[in-house]
Amino acid sequence: MAELRFSALREVFNREPVVVTTPSKIVSEYYGENVFDLPKMERYLSKEAYKVVKRAINEGKSLSRQEADLVATGLKPWAIGRGATHYTHWFHPLTDGTAEKHDGFIEFGDNGHIVEKFSGEVLVQSEPDASSFPSGGIRNTFEARGYTAWDVSSPVFIVGTTLCIPTIFVSYTGEALDYKAPLLKALSELDRAAVDICQYFDKDVTKVIATLGCEQEYFLIDDALYYARPDLVLAERTLMGHQSSKDQQLSDHYFGSIPERVMAFMEDFECEAYRLGIPVKTRHNEVAPNQYECAPIFEEVNLAVDHNQILMDIMRKVGRKHKFRVLLHEKPFAGINGSGKHNNWSMATNTGVNLLSPGKNPKTNLQFLTFLVNVIKAVNDSNDVLRASVMNETNSYRLGGHEAPPAIISVFLGTYLTNMLDNIARKVTDKKMTPAQKTELKLGIGKIPEILLDNTDRNRTSPFAFTGNRFEFRAVGSSANCSASMIVLNAAVAYQLTLFKKEVDIIIKKGINKDEAIFQVLKKYILESERVLFEGDNYSKEWHQEAKKRGLCNLASVPESISLYLTKQSREVLIGSGVFTAKELESRVEVEYEKFTMKVQIESRVLGDLAINHIVPTGIKYMTLLIENIKGLKEIFNATEFERLAGARKESIITISDHISMIKKLVNEMVDERRKANIIEDNYKKAIAYESKVKPYLDEIRIHIDKLELLVDNEMWPLPKYRELLFTK
Ligand code: ADP
Ligand code: MG
Repeated sequence: MAELRFSALREVFNREPVVVTTPSKIVSEYYGENVFDLPKMERYLSKEAYKVVKRAINEGKSLSRQEADLVATGLKPWAIGRGATHYTHWFHPLTDGTAEKHDGFIEFGDNGHIVEKFSGEVLVQSEPDASSFPSGGIRNTFEARGYTAWDVSSPVFIVGTTLCIPTIFVSYTGEALDYKAPLLKALSELDRAAVDICQYFDKDVTKVIATLGCEQEYFLIDDALYYARPDLVLAERTLMGHQSSKDQQLSDHYFGSIPERVMAFMEDFECEAYRLGIPVKTRHNEVAPNQYECAPIFEEVNLAVDHNQILMDIMRKVGRKHKFRVLLHEKPFAGINGSGKHNNWSMATNTGVNLLSPGKNPKTNLQFLTFLVNVIKAVNDSNDVLRASVMNETNSYRLGGHEAPPAIISVFLGTYLTNMLDNIARKVTDKKMTPAQKTELKLGIGKIPEILLDNTDRNRTSPFAFTGNRFEFRAVGSSANCSASMIVLNAAVAYQLTLFKKEVDIIIKKGINKDEAIFQVLKKYILESERVLFEGDNYSKEWHQEAKKRGLCNLASVPESISLYLTKQSREVLIGSGVFTAKELESRVEVEYEKFTMKVQIESRVLGDLAINHIVPTGIKYMTLLIENIKGLKEIFNATEFERLAGARKESIITISDHISMIKKLVNEMVDERRKANIIEDNYKKAIAYESKVKPYLDEIRIHIDKLELLVDNEMWPLPKYRELLFTK
């Protein structure tokens, strides 16, 4: 058994960095070469087809069959010219990854010979038999067909020899079965609502897009060691392993110099990303050993989400080439930092204004404050559902830990803006303001510094922090499809902006001027959202108590958190705005419960198997060795000498034996609890049973295994230890 561990270690010691070749050292020379973007469309499409696609992209419309044919005619030679032999509709089902089913371009021609064909029909729509994707009961197997339809706003791209067409995925009866369809709806709602507000300030604004830059954290583990850890292979996290004597105490990995092998991997996957038009920009070592981060330049949300999904896939694939496994799990190792995916989010207008960035004059600053306060109000009112959007089995090990944002969603603003909002709340009155009051307010607002980015005023513990020109939603998990959180955030802000406009317009109708009306509503919102603003240390005990008093939700339970998707507020925001139908939302919640249950079930099975088949036999083997040793002592020494010498060894035998007995007992109990939970029909109740009855055993059993790891001869231990997984490069 231990042989696998040691041969893996030998393999790692002999590894050399892979030599990476890029098409050019100048990134701009090959950036986007595998994407059918606008410049390529202009070159390959007829004038008419190009115009049609451009309009469809701008207006968020789909193409007719005829229009699609025109596009396909130009797309085909480009794709084949770049070596594509197959095409696929590429979509985001409600699993953790993306889905693709490849079809060749080949068809029989008139004379029975083979020709390459690609029509508009297959470009815009396809009907995969997708009955095995989670649907939460929306689709029965007898109507297994789902439709995929091209999302024109995200460009077609080539991976390897396959032309990938980003699509939405809906059921035969029209319900969304994916993340993209509702995301597009939420983004279009935000566009509509935000443009309406911008009209108060600037009549030239006709389009608002939400922007997203996601910082992706991950761990790298050598392939050989990974294969020697069945828990990593099957559950993507270590279910056992004693802490390494040294791990991240010294923070010596953070921003440290990047190891050569890792650097080669990074250069390689970044090159692949560039070819696919993914603007990865930042790379660095993270806090935990073997943990790294990669961040792109922000893009429009839908595109950024697609790019993040592709990026995760590329990282995994390129990792294999370098004999690395990329762990995107939120908490692969206990006791050290987990991984998140900070979602940097803002809104931008067609006039080039970042709506969460203070401007140069009082007018743009009032616009900035309007959006800022509305986002805060949205986070306050939709606090529960925002939390639901980031909570799942894997992220639950990270959220609330002392290195990640807590389970309480609060907003950090920094001293300057906090004072600014206090000022508005104090100074604005419901009565007409005097000219002097108005001037004073406007003067204050006009003075907001253009750049609020101040590194001394950053709060790393906040789950939703303002960072100068954007918000950073840090609670999102590293393996997540960001759509889940982006659907909720954008829908919540859209909903809020719509309410805001209504309230302001009512006041304007009463004869109050526009700016004053805006101030009055902002003041009201600031007062109503006070509970969600928090500047202090989010990890502290005091905050947990304080948050409770403020009525903020702090649920550690995953199923309970997921159920917050169905509160009155959440339904209003998500169903009222048309982002989901009731059936879609309810079925999504069912899918989430099921995913949770299955993940705990898998972990529990893997742990049971490893405990009984790997750990217990190892413990027994070592115990036998000790027993043999004691027998030997007895032969050699007289009774008094023997008693003196054998005492410690006997104690070890008892301790090891006790741990082994406990492991066996606990595994049996865990299996029993699983059996009981498995017959529960209701998905929610089943998930609760898995959480409260099965999951606790994972920790309890682990304690005994980790103790054994310290007692048993290192030569015999079958699994690579933390110090090997984290420090062997
Ligand atoms: P830090 O670690 O200091 O937060 P990073 O450079 O790691 O900074 O990540 C910041 C991310 O925020 C980048 O992806 C960046 O493109 C993104 N970002 C910057 N401005 C905006 C914006 N207006 N909207 C969305 N994302 C933004
Ligand atoms: Mg950041």
